[in-house]
Amino acid sequence: MKVLIDQQQINSRVISLGRELANEYQGRPLTIIGILAGSLVLLADLIRAIDVPHQVGLLQASSYRGKTTTAGTLSVNLDYLPDITDRDVLLIDDIFDTGKTMQTVLAQINEREPRSLKSAVLLWKEEATEVDFGPDYHCFKIPNHFVVGYGLDFNNEYRHLPFIASLEGADLA
Ligand code: 5GP
Ligand code: MG
Ligand code: MG
Repeated sequence: MKVLIDQQQINSRVISLGRELANEYQGRPLTIIGILAGSLVLLADLIRAIDVPHQVGLLQASSYRGKTTTAGTLSVNLDYLPDITDRDVLLIDDIFDTGKTMQTVLAQINEREPRSLKSAVLLWKEEATEVDFGPDYHCFKIPNHFVVGYGLDFNNEYRHLPFIASLEGADLA
C-alpha cells in the first residue's frame, strides 16, 4: 500500500472547501446529499466544515462492479432522499472517475426540481472522465489508478483508512 494523500493534506483541503462552500451557500436553503457508501467519510468531515445551516440526506448508488474496477449496471435508490423541492442541493461523492455515476444521479435528482444542483467530490480522475462535464468542486485530482481509504473501498474493505492509498500488487483484475 502506497499513501498518495495523507491525513493532514485531506483535513486541510476539506476545511478550505468547507469555507468556500459556506461562502457560496450562505443564506441559501442548502441540502447536502451524500452518495452511499463511498461519500460517508467526506460527508461527515465536510458538513462540519461548512459553517452555515444546512440539511443532510443520503442516497445509494451501486454499480455491482465486484472485484473489477470497470462499472457494471448502476442501481440508484432514492428512498431516503429528503424533500429537495426549492432547495439548493450539493451532491457529494468520493470520486469522479468516468463520471457516469454522477451523470445518472444528477439526472435523477434534477427530476425532483431542486432550486439548484451542484456536485462535489474528494477525488477527480480527470484522465478517466468519459462525460462532457466535471464535478463543480473537487478536493484533489489524481492519476488514473485504483485508490482506497477515506471512504473508498476495495471489496468493502479499507474505507476507514484516514488517508488515500493505492493498492500496489493487490489482485484488482
Ligand atoms: P464513475 O461512475 O465516475 O466511473 O465511478 C464512480 C464510482 O466508482 C465511485 O463512486 C466509486 O465507488 C467507484 N470508483 C471509481 N474509481 C475508484 C477508485 O479508484 N477506487 C475505488 N475504491 N472506487 C472507485
Ligand atoms: Mg461510489
Ligand atoms: Mg466501491
